[in-house]
Amino acid sequence: MNLTGNSVENLNTSFNALETFLGDQKTLEKVRELLKHADDGSVSEEQRIVLNQIEKTLKCYIVESDSAKALRESMMKKEGALQKSRNNLKTQYTDKDGNVVDTTPTVIRTKMRSDPEESVRKSCWEMLRKNGPFLLDNGFCDIIKERNRFARELGFEDFYDLKVTNAEGFSKKKCFEMLDGLEQATKPLLDKALERLKKEKGENATKPWNTGFALSGELTKLTDPYYPFEYAPEVWGRSFSRMNIKYKNATMRLDLCDRKGKYPNGFCHWPTAPYKTQDGTFIPSETNFTSLATPDEIGSGNTALTTLMHEGGHAAHFSNIVQGSPLFSQERAPFSVALAETQSMFLDALCEDASWQARYAKNRKGETIPWELIERSIKEKHPYKVFQLRGMIAVPYFEKALYEMDEKDLTPENVLRVADEVEMKIQGGLAGRPLMSVPHILADESSCYYHGYVFAEMAVHQTREYFFNTGDGTIVDNPRVGKELIENYWVHGSGNPGFLGLVNNLTGSPLKHDAWVKELGVEVEDLLKEEKAEYEKALAASASSNKDEIDLEMRAIFVHGDDVISDSKDSGFLGACEKFRGWIYQEWPKTQTMA
Ligand SMILES: [Zn+2]
Repeated sequence: MNLTGNSVENLNTSFNALETFLGDQKTLEKVRELLKHADDGSVSEEQRIVLNQIEKTLKCYIVESDSAKALRESMMKKEGALQKSRNNLKTQYTDKDGNVVDTTPTVIRTKMRSDPEESVRKSCWEMLRKNGPFLLDNGFCDIIKERNRFARELGFEDFYDLKVTNAEGFSKKKCFEMLDGLEQATKPLLDKALERLKKEKGENATKPWNTGFALSGELTKLTDPYYPFEYAPEVWGRSFSRMNIKYKNATMRLDLCDRKGKYPNGFCHWPTAPYKTQDGTFIPSETNFTSLATPDEIGSGNTALTTLMHEGGHAAHFSNIVQGSPLFSQERAPFSVALAETQSMFLDALCEDASWQARYAKNRKGETIPWELIERSIKEKHPYKVFQLRGMIAVPYFEKALYEMDEKDLTPENVLRVADEVEMKIQGGLAGRPLMSVPHILADESSCYYHGYVFAEMAVHQTREYFFNTGDGTIVDNPRVGKELIENYWVHGSGNPGFLGLVNNLTGSPLKHDAWVKELGVEVEDLLKEEKAEYEKALAASASSNKDEIDLEMRAIFVHGDDVISDSKDSGFLGACEKFRGWIYQEWPKTQTMA
């Protein structure tokens, strides 16, 4: 990020201190000793909850047997070597004149969606397919074998079982029972969508390098004026504030725009995780959030807004965790990926609702996005939404197959064959994003957790259905939403009752795929009718009230690297947003004149 005072040395020191703390066998023993006295009155109920959480957390990091420790060291070393050798895989494609071009993975993905030349898209896809053989030639199979040996040493079925149990608190068996149900329920929808694709866009569109291109229309360009980049923070703040979402005096630093030398991935992290001290004082959270926006680029406003709704959702979730230790609100295991993503995805999903767009998608003159564009978007996207679901579930199915292979069968040929088989079965053909190119499968941290996104999406649909079926049946601008999310989903953090328990408590039903599948299966005509009615209702409701104060009970600081652009402490949230707008007009003057 190139910030003043940055120091690799300090980073390593604090990283090692955290590792030492989380891996301290003595702390674990002390906690267990104290828990033994939980019944004789020397430990209060509140202390017992905290002690259990410390034990649960440390158990994710401490390996108690020597042979397992040795295996872990060896597999981490092998993974490190593979990650390093990965830099030797050149990212290249062949342009339309036959020249080989060096490039980046981001460009490869963009070209597959947008390059009009089929041969170029195909060459990009072939590049993605090279990831598999490369990883397999550089020791991937050995890593899988060692991860499994390590997990079995600790008493798990295999590495997948270990990961899902630590991260979500339920077994691999339970995980795939839920996924199997979703897979079977959506297979007919996939077949229908593939048929429709052939009929609408021709047989050629089903080729893996053509599908994404065939389905990406002109819409981004047409809707762009209704998502002015420089207004995104205000829109996010207003939308959250009307839902009564509060940040409990958290501080959030937002570094939204790209610049030279900036870390090439957007992310959100918490240098201070919130908690309650023993005397009951609440320590609010601190969040840093970075993204890579180029304000005058087509589509950047929409991306910024969706990202703010998503990351701002994570930040809202974490800032409302009120428990007796920061171990309930730190983002690593045992924090459930599914629980965390449910909150952010529930909030960013609003951007696709006509009811939300009628209130918030406005151009620089204050004109609302016309219904015709929403209608077109529904017609173009809705029938194919199942592709995304099937692409998501393909990853856990592939990793399950991978970790269930016998050691003697774990050969490069077999792994590639299994990857292709899963793509054919789950996605109905070879995938535009080949399974072996999905970055998550490689690193220990991110492997075997993709199901978390699937369950989160499942929970999002079930939670939406709950709000639609209760109260006045709305989500957008409804103050009840923030209150219920805070009280039911957010306050507990990674403590009990955990992801499945929380969903059950709020929605009154165990987590199921029904709401998601039902929504995918709605006919386009019916969906248009529903959304049109929502759009008109929202227009009527929003006519009068766009000037109210925004109070998120948060200090928002807009920064660009070391420069502070504005601070809500000085000028209130709206004032800070206004200053931010001025800064954008100054740095990217083209934005001001974009119609
Ligand atoms: Zn997220």
